[in-house]
Amino acid sequence: MKIYNTLTKTKEEFIPREPGKVYMYVCGPTTYNYIHLGNARPIVFFDTVRRYFEYKGFEVIYVQNFTDIDDKIIKRALEEGISPVELGQKYIIEYFKDADRLGVKRATVHPKVTEHIPEIIEMVKGLIEKGYAYEVEGDVYFAVDSFPDYGKLSGRDLDELKAGARVEVDEKKKNPLDFALWKKAKPGEPFWESPWGPGRPGWHIECSAMSLKYLGENFDIHGGGADLVFPHHENEVAQSEAFTGKPFARYWMHNGFITVNQEKMSKSLGNFFLVREILEKFPGRVIRFFLLSTHYRSPLDFDDKKLNEAKAALERVDNFVQNLKEVNPLPGEARKEIQEKITNLLRDFNEAMEDDFNTAQAMASLFELVRFGNTQIASGNLTAGDKKLFEEALNVYTRVFGIEFGVLEEIAGEDITPLVELLIEVRARLKKEKKYDLADFIRDELKKQGILLEDTPKGVRWKRV
Ligand SMILES: [Zn+2]
Repeated sequence: MKIYNTLTKTKEEFIPREPGKVYMYVCGPTTYNYIHLGNARPIVFFDTVRRYFEYKGFEVIYVQNFTDIDDKIIKRALEEGISPVELGQKYIIEYFKDADRLGVKRATVHPKVTEHIPEIIEMVKGLIEKGYAYEVEGDVYFAVDSFPDYGKLSGRDLDELKAGARVEVDEKKKNPLDFALWKKAKPGEPFWESPWGPGRPGWHIECSAMSLKYLGENFDIHGGGADLVFPHHENEVAQSEAFTGKPFARYWMHNGFITVNQEKMSKSLGNFFLVREILEKFPGRVIRFFLLSTHYRSPLDFDDKKLNEAKAALERVDNFVQNLKEVNPLPGEARKEIQEKITNLLRDFNEAMEDDFNTAQAMASLFELVRFGNTQIASGNLTAGDKKLFEEALNVYTRVFGIEFGVLEEIAGEDITPLVELLIEVRARLKKEKKYDLADFIRDELKKQGILLEDTPKGVRWKRV
């Protein structure tokens, strides 16, 4: 299996630290709001990585943290009149609702910063003792000049960074690029006691402390969005390697940005989408399918049209699953040519996934399976053995992509039942008055909205399609 490693900028053969086990850490969300689409991409992609390893028989120890204390959380908590920990608890619950809808499995551990303050303090203490960090008036900074490898992950060197960065001048820092490991509490802020007085951890140190606690030194995979490479992950490398004296994560994987109409998604541009908002219009598995339809390192452009395309593509698979359910196969074993074709398609699937998790390519094999399967059903020659093989192959895709096929699920929006029933009633009255044009108009327009009316002997039934 080959993985593109940001650290070496090459695709490398994946060799786990321990045979049969994969230890991985992915930076999780900050708990001050619902997750947005940019958060969802790494969450869904790395969940798929984990699922693929599990499908291959690995045991995966998967850690995804919650950043539940930082400036944004403190500000938001003040606005809402609750404590930062309460705010965190609220958005952690909301996170799991969205993650469930997206088919994301629970991590082995979801550590929270506020529950790991002693570990963080120990690490900061160690870094000061070893000469990599210094305290000034209750703040503790990491001294980037003390770590010669600083910049090795992001490929930047210190001089270049200093020249290019608009780093605010801070009299307290020895080098403007030094970053906070511990922040002295300002009046009114939540704090924890420490050897340097009351304060709270800086952002970067949490991921070093929690990954080392749950995964140990030199663990296998560290993932996150490309926007985290610098400074967050660069700083994680520096702190962790300075502290342990050993290499930190062995494979660094980073997913690309999400763009909206080719522009980077950002709050300031107003093209910022919460997963919760998208779930009002599209089922979670459509969003998941869309996120996996592009290679994870490529930018992914988002709009409703692309989600509709993903929905239509997924419907092709759903229809095949339905056809397969309904077909009455001939008795008999699987035919050799069917067996060979499915084996080849699953081999293509595996090869795509083993080539740096090329989910886009892997999906192509699924659509070939659907196309081929439909022709077999249409031919009338499908045997019971063939049918079973198709079902088993579909199971592989479901397990790894985390997408159930052939299920219709409700979207998260408000209950539209009363409105639809009102329109059904209006349509019935129009028909009574022989105003068939208008009655058909209602049916057709509802269909365009994804609501199908069916006239049955027992009355009108409706369903979402
Ligand atoms: Zn992190």
